[in-house]
Amino acid sequence: MIRTRFAPSPTGPLHLGHAYSAILAHDFAKARGGEFVVRIEDIDKSRARSEWENKIFDDLEWLGLTWSAPVLRQSKRDAAYEFAINKLWADGLLYPCNCSRRDIKESAMAPHGEGKTNYGPDGIIYPGICRQEKYSNQRPQDSALRLDMARAAINCSTIQDQNIEIDGSRNNNNIINTAQFIESVGDVVLSRKSKEVAYHLAVVVDDEAQSISHVVRGSDLKSSTDIHVLLQNLLGYTSPWYLHHKLIRDSAGKRLAKRDDAKSISKFREQGCSPADIRTLVGL
Ligand SMILES: [Zn+2]
Repeated sequence: MIRTRFAPSPTGPLHLGHAYSAILAHDFAKARGGEFVVRIEDIDKSRARSEWENKIFDDLEWLGLTWSAPVLRQSKRDAAYEFAINKLWADGLLYPCNCSRRDIKESAMAPHGEGKTNYGPDGIIYPGICRQEKYSNQRPQDSALRLDMARAAINCSTIQDQNIEIDGSRNNNNIINTAQFIESVGDVVLSRKSKEVAYHLAVVVDDEAQSISHVVRGSDLKSSTDIHVLLQNLLGYTSPWYLHHKLIRDSAGKRLAKRDDAKSISKFREQGCSPADIRTLVGL
């Protein structure tokens, strides 16, 4: 069964880029007799607003998209995230870290000399300050938790490239080079000091819960895909296929952001645009 999802954060209006992603995911599933579902990524409780959520649903309906119930809300999923974290902790793959951004920056720069800091999907690659030979059995309650990538790679020696093309075809059958991959991402944070789950873990646990077979999302997330596939392996999940689409840009070539109100779907609706016009605008 083909199942795709659209997973907006209710922190601002949907713009053309969101519409493009939602339509692609919707049409991909419907064209193949599959299902399309919606997930509200409201993990950041300080920024998520129910008004935005209502507007998102209104815009999606106006675009002519239909989705299957239930809608999943990340704010209601703490127990599921906790379960996954506990499994990874019990497997000895996580370690506590209390480093500040500054600690990380200073340490990352030290061995390389000026300006040679390496960046991964989450910013500066963590230089492993808190990584140890052996971790205590007691999970601390007030620390961020990082994934020990080297250990994870021992538990999961091969990772398959899950990327496919926009027409659904597979472009390769590659096994990821684990050593290279580890070096390019570092020990990512999976649980924050505040106990809030990090994006990488939430998205993997939620895609599994919603039985997503194909993740359709922007190419800005492509560098995170191997992290997600590794996590799926460690948690015993079946990995979905990943389709990364182009990003919709403004006339100056800049990526659309939440604050680009001018490109919001509601603005186009006010100006009398039709859903077909929106499809044309994004090149569909
Ligand atoms: Zn640390």
